[in-house]
Amino acid sequence: MKNVVIIGAGLGGLATAIRLAHYGYRVTIVEKNERVGGKMNIVRHNGYTFDTGPSLLTMPFIIRELFASVGEAMEDHITLVPVDPICRYWFSDGATLDASGNLKNTEEEIARLSAADVEGFRKFIAHGERIYNASAESFLFQPFGSLDIKGILGNLKLLPAVTKLDAFRTLNDAVETFFADPRLQQLFNRFATYNGSSPYLAPATLAIIPYIEFAFGGWYVEGGMYKLAEALEGLATKKGVRIQTGVEVKKIVVERKKAKGILPQSGELIPADIVISNADALYTHKELLTGSRWKFDSTEPSLSGFVMLLGVKKSFTRLKHHNVFFSADYKDEFDVMFNDLKPSPNPTIYVCQTSQSDSSHAPVGCSNLFVLVNAPSLRCPGTDGSPEYLSDWEKEKHEYRNLIIRKLSTLGLGDIEKHIEYEEIITPLDFERRYNAFRGSIYGTSSNSRMAAFLRPPNKSAEVENLYFAGGSSHPGGGIPLVLLSGKIVADMIQQQVGQP
Ligand SMILES: Cc1cc2nc3c(=O)[nH]c(=O)nc-3n(C[C@H](O)[C@H](O)[C@H](O)COP(=O)(O)OP(=O)(O)OC[C@H]3O[C@@H](n4cnc5c(N)ncnc54)[C@H](O)[C@@H]3O)c2cc1C
Repeated sequence: MKNVVIIGAGLGGLATAIRLAHYGYRVTIVEKNERVGGKMNIVRHNGYTFDTGPSLLTMPFIIRELFASVGEAMEDHITLVPVDPICRYWFSDGATLDASGNLKNTEEEIARLSAADVEGFRKFIAHGERIYNASAESFLFQPFGSLDIKGILGNLKLLPAVTKLDAFRTLNDAVETFFADPRLQQLFNRFATYNGSSPYLAPATLAIIPYIEFAFGGWYVEGGMYKLAEALEGLATKKGVRIQTGVEVKKIVVERKKAKGILPQSGELIPADIVISNADALYTHKELLTGSRWKFDSTEPSLSGFVMLLGVKKSFTRLKHHNVFFSADYKDEFDVMFNDLKPSPNPTIYVCQTSQSDSSHAPVGCSNLFVLVNAPSLRCPGTDGSPEYLSDWEKEKHEYRNLIIRKLSTLGLGDIEKHIEYEEIITPLDFERRYNAFRGSIYGTSSNSRMAAFLRPPNKSAEVENLYFAGGSSHPGGGIPLVLLSGKIVADMIQQQVGQP
């Protein structure tokens, strides 16, 4: 029986392991942290529960398919709950809009702000649907080769679909043609941040994201998002996967260009016929492989995040489950983050309050607020090629926290400061340290160029035989559904290429 070792028990690692174990491979996952889930993580404190990573689930059929592919019913493991409205948007002029999976309701909300834009909304969603239809089967659900000659030839069959992807203008350019009202432009530009990019740089292909959200809805996992990680851990264990937590990998051992196993920080070589890295692909190339040719320093990472977990002795009845408080100048926000690599002094603020849908997540009369602000990745190369930190989050985090609390107070959350009884801050530095996220990025490489989607590290190493990549930093990209898809892509690729387990 062939031995597979997977580095990392994030959602990508767990999904790959479940499928490979089902195919008959002997699978071991080695995870540096004390629990599985990676960026899908959880904090519990004095009656408060916080999901510290993903808060919104889309494309639920991908999770259902994962369970079904190994003979299980998703409903026997987790319960998905639709969130409606999906999100309440708060604009800087005081207006609000509730976006719903029920398109009629969303159209009514749009009409309240700008009746002339309702038709544009319909056309924009239809445009996103065309991009989805052109890319889902041929790109999202399939492996994608590297951009060497072999990879290019292998991917030529995708060319007819590529031309339909609206990749030659930015998302903002497209949004401006569909919507006249600047508030609606801001709302639909926001979807570029779902993979950590700027709407002013990323291709209009990202119009696929609002289509997916409106067509398939926004979902929550009953009991908290972390229940998904626990369910996948349970399923992996049931399928015979061995999960070792608290073990950090130091090196992927390569002999004559073939992966032979992994070397933990302490302990002996764990031999393997196949090695899969679920750890960030750029980090893997830089830190776990010797002599990789990958150009890390010229690869632009996606955005990171500045997170505050607030246990507040107060109810916020005007807040929905998901809320976005938009800044007055969206373009400036992205310029500051991507050009100056600094946190924006006037950021858009996302607030998730799961205690509204899940009373077990906060004591009675209290709220668990997960506050997320986009933040730049950690550093850029110094002039001598060495990495240098551009912001020192350890020093700056309290000041930035105060700025956000002040903003939230003026935006309708009133005297929130007085009622905070639990608080934790998570900075880009923490994302780097906790998960080995390359420069603290949340979604791997940014999509800030026309070709970005095709330049992500591929699922199979071009440098080392028997080495594969599954997770949000490789193909097809970040976010729960795509990460789970990468697990399917890698497991199927191994079964086809390696054959008999
Ligand atoms: C704040 C935040 C909000 C988000 N919001 C959403 C959302 O609303 N919806 C959505 O769909 N997505 C969201 N995402 C993105 C989503 O969480 C990720 O795309 C996804 O969880 C990534 O999974 P992964 O398996 O690719 O990687 P990871 O979760 O990063 O897992 C990689 C694992 O590898 C381990 N590892 C790394 N190096 C080593 C080593 N040397 N040895 C052993 N183990 C190692 C890490 O500890 C980690 O457990 C959000 C992410 C964050 C952080």
